[in-house]
Order: sequence, then structure tokens, then C-alpha cells
Amino acid sequence: MSVQPLVKTTFSGKLFLSYLNELRALVGEKSVLMVLRKSGALGNIRDIVSTRHEKITPPQALVAINQCIEDIFGETSLRTVVYNAAKMSFRSSFGETAMIKEASNWIQSHPQSPLRLRASLETISYLMESTSDQKVHLDESSSHYHVVVQNCIACYGLAEQHSRYCYYNVGLIRGGLHLLFGKDDYPVQELACVTNGDDVCEFIVRKFPFSDNERGSGKTGFLSLPAHLR
Ligand SMILES: [Zn+2]
Repeated sequence: MSVQPLVKTTFSGKLFLSYLNELRALVGEKSVLMVLRKSGALGNIRDIVSTRHEKITPPQALVAINQCIEDIFGETSLRTVVYNAAKMSFRSSFGETAMIKEASNWIQSHPQSPLRLRASLETISYLMESTSDQKVHLDESSSHYHVVVQNCIACYGLAEQHSRYCYYNVGLIRGGLHLLFGKDDYPVQELACVTNGDDVCEFIVRKFPFSDNERGSGKTGFLSLPAHLR
């Protein structure tokens, strides 16, 4: 079993607090309290949440909470509860920042620009990196953008437990795109994951938005990778 090198790492207490608030909206206060208690995070919760973007939260708290959610609500809860809470938390974490307001104005006032998706992902990558110890960079292929994340907080300390575990970061990226474009138009999927033996976690964003056909058939929620990429 390979072990991820454990560099000391943290992320924003505001990001974590927003995530907990969105979890509460999805599953209710009692369930969130139970998850916090079971994960061991309840005892020191005041030390690891914040109303500001200060890097005080150990990613182990996020991972432990997500593992408890999976234990309690079942395996599909990663792509329903964790993914959706993370997606909604982008707005409450970053919606008021000058950077998001500026980027979103630019994107919405340049509806024809081919640079909109790249500009959005650069903004999202920058915010992910500046509110955590993750290293995030953007690559591009003909059909997709690739958001490559080192020291991913969503699977921190886990090794070979799951294939593609990081629904939290999938949700966060998708929530960022939704906020910036003002509509939920682009599919995001996890291509590589540290828990699957890969060196980094890698998220791909398709360059063309959901088609009318995909919308009509309701295929716009969390998507699994197509068979040839699994
Ligand atoms: Zn990860």
C-alpha cells in the first residue's frame, strides 16, 4: 500500500464552515452534529472553522467528515451529499470576493469569447490554491481543461481506498463555474486520484457545455467517467 507523504497542510476555515453550513442545509442539523461527533471534529470545532479565509483547518477533518457521511448515508452519498454541499459552498465562500465579482462580470459581458472557460478555471484554481496548501495548475487538451491538484485536501492521507474519491473538489470546481457563468453549464469529472495510486488528483472540465439532449435527458448532475477513461 502506498502512503502519501504527509506534508503539514491546512485550508481555509471559512471554506470548511461554508461546507458544514451547506451540509446542514442538505441533511439537517442533527445529522451534521452526528457526523461531527462521530468524526471526532466536534470537540475542537471552534478551532477549525472561521468566518475569514485563514488557513487553520486540517484536511483530516474534512476527510474524516466525508468518511462518516459515507458510513452513515452509504456510498452514493459521496456524489450526492458531499458533491452538492461542496458545490453550493463555493458561493458562500467566495461569492463576495472582488476577484469573483470581477471575473463574473467579464465572463458575462463577453458571451462570445473562447477564453471564458479558461479564465473561469484560472480564477477557481487561484482561489483553491490561495485558501489551502494545495498546488493547482491548469492544463489543456483538445476537448478538456485539466485542473491538476497536488496535496489535494479531499483525499488527504488516504491511500488506495477508493477509486476517485475527491467529490468535494469536483463539487467545488463545478460550483465555481456555476457561479461565474450564472448557469450550471459544464461537466466536471475526476480523472486521476491519489487514492487510486496516481501522483496527483486531476479534474477534467469538458470544453463544450451540456447539450440540449443532455439537458433533456437529465444527464447534467454528477457524471461518471466514460468507460474508455475508467
Ligand atoms: Zn484528491
